[in-house]
Amino acid sequence: MIGPELWQKWSAARVRAAHQAPYLAGALLALDPVVVPGSAADLRRFPADPGWHVYVGAGELDRQSVPEVGFWLVHQVTHLLREHARRYPGSTMLTRAQDQRRWNLAADAELDDDLLPETSPLPADATTPACLGLPDGWTAEQYWHALPENAPAPEGDCGSGCDGLPRLWDRDLPGLSPATARLTALDTARRIRERLNAQDDVPAGWRRWAGQVLEPSVNWRRHLSAEVRRGLAQAAGRVDHTYRRPSRRAAALPGVVLPSLRRPLPRVTVLIDTSGSVTEGMLARASAEVAGVLRAVGAGRRLLTVITSDARAYPPQVLDRVSDLRLTGGGGTDLRAGFAAALSRRPPPDLIIAMTDGRTPWPARPPTPTRVVVVLLDPSGGPAPEWAQTVHVRGAT
Ligand SMILES: [Zn+2]
Repeated sequence: MIGPELWQKWSAARVRAAHQAPYLAGALLALDPVVVPGSAADLRRFPADPGWHVYVGAGELDRQSVPEVGFWLVHQVTHLLREHARRYPGSTMLTRAQDQRRWNLAADAELDDDLLPETSPLPADATTPACLGLPDGWTAEQYWHALPENAPAPEGDCGSGCDGLPRLWDRDLPGLSPATARLTALDTARRIRERLNAQDDVPAGWRRWAGQVLEPSVNWRRHLSAEVRRGLAQAAGRVDHTYRRPSRRAAALPGVVLPSLRRPLPRVTVLIDTSGSVTEGMLARASAEVAGVLRAVGAGRRLLTVITSDARAYPPQVLDRVSDLRLTGGGGTDLRAGFAAALSRRPPPDLIIAMTDGRTPWPARPPTPTRVVVVLLDPSGGPAPEWAQTVHVRGAT
């Protein structure tokens, strides 16, 4: 059992951690403490599991100081955000214990020097690149390859949140779903980018990580400006032929096209297939692409609508932040319901971006004048219709 004073200590540690790394505040709140009876030395690092539980022994919480507990909370949430469990390269069989220790050291070396301001010393049992005799700034995979197979054991164990292999203290509790974990990661990365935009200091490892997380696999900015140009050319052809004649100023600047009209921003509706056949991983990929589309159209302008759809369409969400995205669904598939919902909005969208595994019936005809881009999330799923532009994304399964 953990008494009220110890829970107070826990809360104080979490507040301190959020204060030291404000961009991790949301992720720290997503950690779910699970009390483990008794006290085992194995629990000295407050190990996590892939469902974002952290295992708390009363003895360890009592023994460690608030700054120490705070350090381990930031440490564990970093293992989870950086998906060290999914990245575990070792064996799950015979040499497993040795590989687990080596990966624990490698993952710790990747993250520990990103965790605390220089003024605040690391706990004595933290692993840094320096104490392994290796350079700073590598990834866990690079440290793994540089470490000997029989690397010394770290002091303590970071748990299944570090390598995905079950521990004795792990409970089979419902945890954060992979899609929610992904949204938490996107939100954390967005906070890091905001700090960087405000010229605030962010450790190098976090800067690199945020860049990777926020990087959609499609260049939406280029894609959408191509759509805008196409829409302008169509409008010009329909309405005003003289518009296409180059102006005299343009003639004086060969090769330069002067904007004769204010560049219109396209109204975009993203349709997300949330039927049962679409995996959590594909939905996570779709979320990253939505973040990319949102950046391309400009956040805060209410130009992006998202409609999730399985066999029926769910209420439209006008998004300013990807962390507000709700992925409702889970039933059978008929994306035509989503198309009908998108096209019934007034004014109708200029562009529909449909993200799906392709296992759906499609509208028989293209919805002119709205243009359609189909994003296929599953390389072995169904095809897109011939009348749509198709984009394949990587790493979605
Ligand atoms: Zn660790």
